[in-house]
Amino acid sequence: MDTKNMPCTLSFEDLKTQTKDGTIDTVLVCMVDMQGRLMGKRFHAANFVETSYKETHCCNYLLATDLAMATPPGYASTSWQAGYGDYVMKPDLDTIRPVPWLDGTAMVLCDVLDHHDEPVPHSPRAVLKKQIARLDELGFEAMMATELEFFLFADSLEALRDGGFRDLKPISGYNEDYHIFQTTKEESVMRPLRNHLHAAGVPVEGTKGEAEAGQQELNIRYSPALDCADYHSIAKHAIKEIAWQQGVSVTFLPKWHHDRVGSSSHVHQSLWKDGEAAFADASDELGMSDLMKHYMAGLIANAPDYTYFLAPYVNSYKRFAKGTFAPTKTVWSVDNRTAGFRLCGAGTKGVRVECRIGGSDLNPYLAQAAMLAAGIKGIEDKMVLAPPTTGDVYEDAKADDIPQTLRDATDKLRGSAFLREVMGDDVVDHYTRCAEWEQEEFDRVVTDWEIARGFEQA
Ligand code: ADP
Repeated sequence: MDTKNMPCTLSFEDLKTQTKDGTIDTVLVCMVDMQGRLMGKRFHAANFVETSYKETHCCNYLLATDLAMATPPGYASTSWQAGYGDYVMKPDLDTIRPVPWLDGTAMVLCDVLDHHDEPVPHSPRAVLKKQIARLDELGFEAMMATELEFFLFADSLEALRDGGFRDLKPISGYNEDYHIFQTTKEESVMRPLRNHLHAAGVPVEGTKGEAEAGQQELNIRYSPALDCADYHSIAKHAIKEIAWQQGVSVTFLPKWHHDRVGSSSHVHQSLWKDGEAAFADASDELGMSDLMKHYMAGLIANAPDYTYFLAPYVNSYKRFAKGTFAPTKTVWSVDNRTAGFRLCGAGTKGVRVECRIGGSDLNPYLAQAAMLAAGIKGIEDKMVLAPPTTGDVYEDAKADDIPQTLRDATDKLRGSAFLREVMGDDVVDHYTRCAEWEQEEFDRVVTDWEIARGFEQA
């Protein structure tokens, strides 16, 4: 069989063989941080297959820093006082894969353990695994797909940084939604991206131009929730590295300019049992099972509590603007892109709910975990789904709003009895602190907007 174009991951035995014959010389040993970034070390492959495959270590501040690697006070899990000790990074050998866009390189993802070999509760992979296990106890498997939207810019990251990230020039000059001609011009980035990810075992469906100049979307085939989150993190990393290799730059900021459309990460969700679509029921008008209705009722009712996990920065909330395809209301609708939740595949085996609230900056592990927890709550409490909303949901005054600011979402997270029950107080307190710090930093800094607005005229 010709396997050249088939997604593949490397078995540990394959890695040993390829290390011996010199195909692979470097192994990236990575964990996922709170921001969803890959963090870790580069091992010589010979060392990895001989010893480091068992475990390596990292400073425990990796799950307590902000984007700029500052060490905010106020975390219970670690601090200067506690000496910022180590965590164990335990490679998950089922995630070994080639990294075809780098020479001679493979990658493995790690679980993060404490000194007693217990999973660190606030580590994103552990947060998701906990909810997957709860769902498993109910006899279901979650299949998820997270869309990745992002903008490409013509200049290199280095040039943009040197220029203070001003005069940002998207790689194209006009809205390229579904455009084939415009996206042909971007194939120097997007074709290697699709092909390299495919060869790395990430089941890429395709890419398309999105609804703004320079905006792209990558779709990955739906998969079990943990795989989906792993794919998302690897794909986001790959996009950044491949764009950098091509001398252009990329941003996953949800709103890089107030006059431009924002970038999202919609999350498609369905539950399965023994390989059958548990959300489907042919006898229902829309093909939705009672299970799906309970799940969706839980998703919608608890959306304010978990919005932080879909929109974790100050900038994330700039995206929620009317008439931009980003939602503002926590209601559902049938194949209607103005609502927070859209029913897709009605009447088919592929019936699923798409949550449209998440921004391109979400951490896929935390986002999926929070939504699974909300859906499970709906199933356990047999919550009743309200009828779908119709028309332009932006103008539906009766529909509940998505929290409008990070401050608002942080209050909801902090006060969420439901999330405290299902994720644990330690996890909710940890991410509440993360959110508070982001807001404190924003509140402290004087922005360009304030200067331009008031310098002369105040
Ligand atoms: P759209 O045209 O709205 O982008 P697609 O049909 O391309 O919708 O599907 C969007 C995403 O939904 C894809 O990544 C696909 O893999 C995923 N998807 C399809 N079926 C399911 C399902 N049953 N459960 C979860 N995700 C699914």
